[in-house]
Amino acid sequence: MPTITTKPSYWATGRPKGNLPKAFDPALVRADFPLLRQKMRGCPLAYLDNAATSQKPQAVLATLTRYYTHLNANIHRGVYKLSADATAAYEAAREKAAHFIGATTAQEIVFVRGATEAINLVAASWGGMNLGPDDEIIVSEMEHHSNIVPWQLLGRRTGARIRVLPFSDAGDLKLEELDRLFSPRTKLLAVTQVSNVLGTLNPVAEIAAQAHAHGALLLVDAAQSAPHIPVRVRELCCDFLALSGHKMCGPTGIGVLWARAELLGAMDPWQGGGDMIRTVTFAESTWNDTPHKFEAGTPPIAEAVGLGAAVDYLTSLGMEAIQRYEDELVQYLLEKLHGVPGLRIIGTPRQRVAVTSFVMDGVHPHDIGTILDSAGVAIRTGHHCCQPVMEHYHVPATARVSLAFYNNRQDIDQLAAALKTVKEVFG
Ligand code: PLP
Repeated sequence: MPTITTKPSYWATGRPKGNLPKAFDPALVRADFPLLRQKMRGCPLAYLDNAATSQKPQAVLATLTRYYTHLNANIHRGVYKLSADATAAYEAAREKAAHFIGATTAQEIVFVRGATEAINLVAASWGGMNLGPDDEIIVSEMEHHSNIVPWQLLGRRTGARIRVLPFSDAGDLKLEELDRLFSPRTKLLAVTQVSNVLGTLNPVAEIAAQAHAHGALLLVDAAQSAPHIPVRVRELCCDFLALSGHKMCGPTGIGVLWARAELLGAMDPWQGGGDMIRTVTFAESTWNDTPHKFEAGTPPIAEAVGLGAAVDYLTSLGMEAIQRYEDELVQYLLEKLHGVPGLRIIGTPRQRVAVTSFVMDGVHPHDIGTILDSAGVAIRTGHHCCQPVMEHYHVPATARVSLAFYNNRQDIDQLAAALKTVKEVFG
């Protein structure tokens, strides 16, 4: 018998039954991740590229297997029980996602492929309806390309312009510049909650207050915050929020766009196809209710159900506990990096979450990454889809270490030892 929850079980009570936070035990938590047990190049695997994608716990893997073994059918269409059960599992995942980010209702959750698609959806639909020539969108200098390029594409279509909120060399947004940047034509401010290069945690609620005071909406890119800290849309006071399931222990190909219900209600669909319509004739079509009008075609059903399992898993650990543990771990990481001669950490933001970038004198970051790989340490090197951040620091690329709650001090010790080898090789 399938054991996947097929009915929204906790929306009414506001708490996931059976998933109340338990004490956070790093050793037990790590054991939940089968991939981390394998050796890499003859060494224990120190997986420190979590900002790119996270590993998946057994609970998510088992949910995907159970889904395909017992529940798989197309949703919202079949009159038979299997289809009804698959539909219920998909919609239960929506409820879980809504609860996880503190949405008012599950109708505010649109399933998308990831943060990139969420932002593109807002640009195409809301942006296409609300922006015209010379209207302005403010984005920060530390945005991922996925929170820059969709607005540039929108600008090409509508004549809207982008203005840039800069950050200091320490890696903090220069919020004092906002007054200068806002104009009566500012329609939207789009900002990341956590930088995927610098680790900066931006004061989103404060930024939201400023945006709203100037009559603009706020879009928050939560791709790098939702895996690490509690994210509550009502506390952030934002209007749109984007996240990626694969960065928070869920499968690839699934993410969430959250938007206030009245915004979604007023927005046109951005893609046409099955399931997003109410009626179709050759003369005209009418749209399904929110959020289905934004989910054209067969959606990533198993992936959504898998994301629901990831959310249950994170909730069972407690996002506050995850944040506390990772805060300690990132301090340990910084201490170790400071001890490596010739290594320069990029940015010293006031508040940092899980991520740090660095360069080493006379060594290209790709060479750092290659030598670390030979010691079983997986980190990211390159521009991290943030070329404007590279430009800010006049570097072509950096090495980036990004942590998750299943990492431990041994991973960081292994990293520090491998960095010493880099130093020896390059002198
Ligand atoms: N925003 C930030 C801050 C990111 O770090 C990333 C990916 O690394 C994205 C957006 C895009 O996420 P995805 O590729 O999952 O759509």
